[in-house]
Amino acid sequence: MLIKVEKYGAKVLRKHSALVKSDEDIEGMSTNLFDTLAKEGGIGLAAPQIGLLKRIFIMDSGPLANDDDTVDKFKHLIINPTILFVSKNENWFNEGCLSIPEIFEDVERPDKIVVKYYNEQLEPIERELSGIEARIFQHEYEHLEGILFIDKLSPIRRQMLKGKLNRIARATIK
Ligand SMILES: [Zn+2]
Repeated sequence: MLIKVEKYGAKVLRKHSALVKSDEDIEGMSTNLFDTLAKEGGIGLAAPQIGLLKRIFIMDSGPLANDDDTVDKFKHLIINPTILFVSKNENWFNEGCLSIPEIFEDVERPDKIVVKYYNEQLEPIERELSGIEARIFQHEYEHLEGILFIDKLSPIRRQMLKGKLNRIARATIK
């Protein structure tokens, strides 16, 4: 089911999400996330963005891989993730977010991470991620903690975006 994406200013984007339990409708959550992402055309979407405070998100490199053949194609459902290790080495990437339309900013993050999560079969998975996959994982993981990518910008960059952000928030809260 296609669900409206919550925009900057919505309280749900600032809350901590709860663990997914095995008796919950994981298939339903997954369908709603994938349907909504396909319609919106992004590369990742976390449950709080569709108003659900649960620790589940999806990553789909499809839109990037179509434009750039150096990008691996992957599509994952990530349940109850943890980040076990982050590299000292960081890199920059121009990020956006479906909840913060029309704002794209360079964000610095660790370039490699080791993560643990459960997949759609509820099997535990432990993997090292790098490149775009590590990038999306960290961005989506932070949604589960109520953190947005604009929080990671320098105070001066944030100040410069204040007008745009306030306009999004006003449209959200009205
Ligand atoms: Zn986002």
